[in-house]
Amino acid sequence: MTRSPNGQIKLDDLAGKRFGRLKVIRLASKKLHTYWFCRCDCRRAAKRVRADSLLDGSTLSCGCLATERRLAAITKHGKNRRTARSPVYSIFFRIRNLCRNPEARDYLRFGGRGCEFLFDTFQQLIAAVGEKPGPAFRLERVDPEGHYAPGNLHWIELHPRRRRKSTSRRRQVVNPVAHKP
Ligand SMILES: [Zn+2]
Repeated sequence: MTRSPNGQIKLDDLAGKRFGRLKVIRLASKKLHTYWFCRCDCRRAAKRVRADSLLDGSTLSCGCLATERRLAAITKHGKNRRTARSPVYSIFFRIRNLCRNPEARDYLRFGGRGCEFLFDTFQQLIAAVGEKPGPAFRLERVDPEGHYAPGNLHWIELHPRRRRKSTSRRRQVVNPVAHKP
């Protein structure tokens, strides 16, 4: 860790450094807080992390460390209720439906185009991709023409500007009266 002459931690020189499983790639943003774009050793996710949570050790992975602890708990105690509520649980059924159920909305964009869903259980999917790293992440195929298969899936973090835009658009639709003079 580098400190400036007055003893303050410098948050702008983390590129290339390693914190737990995260390797810092490049500066992501520097406004109120400094964020670094990091890649995780598990190769499932890249993630923006606040510099101070890297430096104080509170963020050490993309979320896979916590997932491994949870998986260990499942192995120990069998299926537990917390796991059933994992976002990956509903993603498993939603995507499997898109690939295998011709009645599904959007089936033509998935199963209808030959895309296969190659997981038999929710546990297999979570073992391959890990837990959803945060609310702003979406599970996508690495090769969009490939199958939903181990090794071809990763979490993509949606850009914050896009998230804000879609939120305000939704508000406008829900509340058109509020905008009238
Ligand atoms: Zn990871």
